[in-house]
Amino acid sequence: MAEHPPPSDDIRDTGIDVIVVGAGFAGIACAVECKRKGHRVMILEKVHELKQLGDMLSLGVNASRILARWGLHEKLWGVADSAGEIHIHDYLGDLVQVQKMSYPLFGAFPYNGHRAVIHEVLFEHAKSLGIEIRMGHQAVEYWEDEANGKAGVKIQTGETFDADVIVAADGVKSLARKFVIGYCDNPKPSGYAIYRAWFDAEEHGITTDPLTDFLSVHGNQVHAWIGGDMHFLAISSQGGKTICFFLTHKDNAAVDGDWSSPGKIEDVLDLLKDRDPRCAAIVSKAPSCIDWKLLVHDPLPTWVSKSGRVVLIGDAAHPFLPTSVQGASQAIEDGVTLAVSLNLAGKDNVRLGTRTWECMRYQRVHDAQMLGVTTRNLWHGAKAGDSGNKFELPMPEWLMAFDAEAHAYAAYDGIARTIVEEGYRLPSLEEVKESPGYLGRIACGAGRANLKGLLYLDENLIRIYIT
Ligand SMILES: Cc1cc2nc3c(=O)[nH]c(=O)nc-3n(C[C@H](O)[C@H](O)[C@H](O)COP(=O)(O)OP(=O)(O)OC[C@H]3O[C@@H](n4cnc5c(N)ncnc54)[C@H](O)[C@@H]3O)c2cc1C
Repeated sequence: MAEHPPPSDDIRDTGIDVIVVGAGFAGIACAVECKRKGHRVMILEKVHELKQLGDMLSLGVNASRILARWGLHEKLWGVADSAGEIHIHDYLGDLVQVQKMSYPLFGAFPYNGHRAVIHEVLFEHAKSLGIEIRMGHQAVEYWEDEANGKAGVKIQTGETFDADVIVAADGVKSLARKFVIGYCDNPKPSGYAIYRAWFDAEEHGITTDPLTDFLSVHGNQVHAWIGGDMHFLAISSQGGKTICFFLTHKDNAAVDGDWSSPGKIEDVLDLLKDRDPRCAAIVSKAPSCIDWKLLVHDPLPTWVSKSGRVVLIGDAAHPFLPTSVQGASQAIEDGVTLAVSLNLAGKDNVRLGTRTWECMRYQRVHDAQMLGVTTRNLWHGAKAGDSGNKFELPMPEWLMAFDAEAHAYAAYDGIARTIVEEGYRLPSLEEVKESPGYLGRIACGAGRANLKGLLYLDENLIRIYIT
């Protein structure tokens, strides 16, 4: 373990200038932690003002313990407290499992609430620390200058900014990605889409229908219906006052994964016919819904530019499937780990700092991503009458008990030393051994006809999931 001091706010100015592009969860977390670790940080955000976009967002305890450390627990629990149980049903409505959640979990509380509300708490916290957030600043070009040890970004007005490090936290449609990896990585359809909605329980009749009032009368609720190649989640929050649903189903449409593409309620109801009537009763009360096509990227070869001064974090580096319930949490872990790494590297060793950061994050993020794939496959393959705790939402200790800040302090020296002594290599992935039914990896073919996939044993069938 490292000899570094435990995490502390009392850290001197490192003289490292950091520009963060994007004020989402990754960008805000990185900026706040950079400030705490003594770097000089500024955020450039393309939108002129925050809008109430999105719906339910979950932060796992691996991320919430960081936010609690910043002093935000009371505020966040006040707007995004979590249910104590997850009720899992088969698609006909029989109970498969009740997953008990006792808090604190590994010493922290998960937050589940409206994305915009949770995001605003973090955004206001960053402002309260004096972090400059320049709204209406859209990055249009990146560069780095190895000789002078600088990187830069140009915005839409032509104005340029330079710094020791540019952190591109510009989301799933990242512009910086091409600069960092050297080619255009177009997302592919994942084969799935989600219908999602968020609405007021009382106003839309959830509380007065005997088929749906269970979501409101018992406080916060989480119910999942699994099997038949889809899963439906109905969640109430704010003590049962607001409802959201998610229906994840097969869909190969090749359109872009926009958060605001409208869907049709009748299409959702069509998918739910022949299922537990409670699902259709919930959906029929929603005033509108979003049709979100899930896109995936192959794992990027690297998240760090050639000279180590432009770094991709959050969705820009590694978009997540919602079933992992980890997209925003891993984005926060990225930002925190990067701030610590830069602090330990120092201004003269920024490249070593960013490369060490990448080594710390690459495998962990991939393992968290794969958990989402295995959960989705397990849920979609469930049969009527199935039961047991294997259907619970996984909360493994390696994921949830993790403290990104403490881990970065503990792991930095060893990894940095290896890079110095053995040279930097592009990150590579090991197998995900902890996923249920995981057998191994396959790769075959040649040239452009390559096939890569993961092998799983699922109900006595060997399935191949193409990656
Ligand atoms: C509008 C919206 C709604 C969402 N709703 C949900 C939800 O309801 N539930 C859920 O689980 N997840 C939601 N997500 C996704 C979730 O927030 C992210 O997956 C996760 O938090 C990772 O965050 P991120 O900071 O990496 O990316 P994002 O949250 O996507 O943030 C990226 C930020 O970068 C800014 N940006 C992009 N390009 C540029 C540029 N060129 N210059 C400057 N700034 C730029 C964007 O405006 C945005 O603020 C939503 C994302 C968005 C953008």
